[in-house]
Amino acid sequence: MIKYSRQREYIRDFLAGQKDHPTAETIYRNAQKEFPNISLGTVYRNLAQLEQLGEIKKLSTGQGPDHFDGNTSPHYHVICTTCGSVIDLEMENINHINILAKTGFDGEIEGHFVYFYGTCKNCLERNGRQPSALPQTLENAIHGQ
Ligand SMILES: [Zn+2]
Ligand SMILES: [Zn+2]
Repeated sequence: MIKYSRQREYIRDFLAGQKDHPTAETIYRNAQKEFPNISLGTVYRNLAQLEQLGEIKKLSTGQGPDHFDGNTSPHYHVICTTCGSVIDLEMENINHINILAKTGFDGEIEGHFVYFYGTCKNCLERNGRQPSALPQTLENAIHGQ
C-alpha cells in the first residue's frame, strides 16, 4: 500500500492536463512552482509509483529521456526524429500483429511495443516541406504499387 502524497497527486494531475508527454525534467520544473523544495529524485520516485499504480504510462522511446503520459488508455505515438516530440496518434488498433507474431513463435505472445517515427508538422514547415500525399488506397500502400 503506497501512502497518500500531495506531491504525487500534483504530478498525476499535472500529467492528466498535458498532451505533450513531458519528460521528468519538465515535470520537475513545473512541480517546483508548487513545491519549491522538491528534488528531481522525488519526482522520479513519484513517477515510478504512479506507473506502478497504473495511473500514468512511461514511454521509453529509445530516443533521449523517457516521456510520461497521463492518458493510460491504449493509443499509439509518433516520435519526431527532428525535435524529439512525442505525439498522440489516432489510429485503428493493430492488435492482430500479436497473431502474426504468434505464427512464427512457439511460445505465447502477450503484447507488443509500437512507436512510429517521422517528422512532425512543425518541423516539416520549418524546413519548407509538405507532408507527402497519402496513397490512393491502403491496399496500394501495403503492397507498394
Ligand atoms: Zn518535430
Ligand atoms: Zn499519449
